[in-house]
Amino acid sequence: MRVGLIGFPVNHSISPAFQQAAFDALGLDVRYELWETPPERVSASVEQIRRPDCLGANVTIPHKLAVMEYLDEIDGSAAGVGAVNTIVRQPDGRLVGFNTDVEGFTRAIREDGQAGFKGQRITLLGAGGAARAVAVAALVGGAARLSICARRPLQAASLLATLAEHGLVRPETRTEIIALDDASGQRERAIRDCDILINATPVGMTGHSPRGIGETAGDLLVQPEWLSPATLVCDLIYNPPLTPLLERARARGARALNGLPMLIYQGAAAFERWTGQDAPVALMREKAREALRG
Ligand code: NAP
Repeated sequence: MRVGLIGFPVNHSISPAFQQAAFDALGLDVRYELWETPPERVSASVEQIRRPDCLGANVTIPHKLAVMEYLDEIDGSAAGVGAVNTIVRQPDGRLVGFNTDVEGFTRAIREDGQAGFKGQRITLLGAGGAARAVAVAALVGGAARLSICARRPLQAASLLATLAEHGLVRPETRTEIIALDDASGQRERAIRDCDILINATPVGMTGHSPRGIGETAGDLLVQPEWLSPATLVCDLIYNPPLTPLLERARARGARALNGLPMLIYQGAAAFERWTGQDAPVALMREKAREALRG
């Protein structure tokens, strides 16, 4: 049997390393394949999944939205986020799209962060694809406040509007949007005054060029003195494992969580949907770490 990874490019992904190890560990005869897919080939890649020897696929940048129109059904997890990262071929041949990032992030906060969202004040940096999954997790989890700091406030507004359309913005959660270049101290206030801070921008990621707001050497998006030991600081980046933000969090005595647990748990959720078996999470984590070390 086969599972594919649809993206462009795909050769940087560490998913094959831990997904293949998981299939092998359970004695499943499944090959995790890289399906490098330029935009004009998205429909052809999805069609491959309809073959009886295919369990499904993962979808990565830039096709998480584009695949949706070729699927037979979009699960609620993906409808809210507005993106599909996992496709499962059903026994009757129908293709269903899921998004396992919300589940992955929620589990990471619960198991590795020893925390939850209920009644918490959440501050989110960024308003792109990953931020959407984080926002859904926080809203569904019953956060008391969700503050989104974005360099394009309109992007954050459209994110919240979509989530509201899906009935995900509940009365118990106060939402606010703060421009990253806001000079009135709103960003500082939202960061000082939060229980969980999440970076969902690529700022601090290996290979990301420092061109954006607040990315000059001495000034990341968060000043160290804004962090307190009571805050859980979470960076969705997993390469490097200790980002500049997490380094600052640790120096201030705050709890620091990188993006690896989320990556592993979203992969484990996909694995379980394809195979119907529990994913060997500890092994997947070890293999992911090995792949990151190169
Ligand atoms: P994305 O859709 O491109 O969104 C990135 C967001 O960050 C956008 O709001 C973008 O604003 C903002 N941004 C980019 N550069 C910035 C800068 N220099 N200063 C301020 N804001 C900036 O990307 P994504 O898929 O959400 O990924 C975001 C990060 O999460 C990446 O580092 C990715 O590796 C990580 N991630 C981790 C996992 C995991 O499982 N751990 C899963 C998904 C993503 P503009 O739109 O204005 O550029």
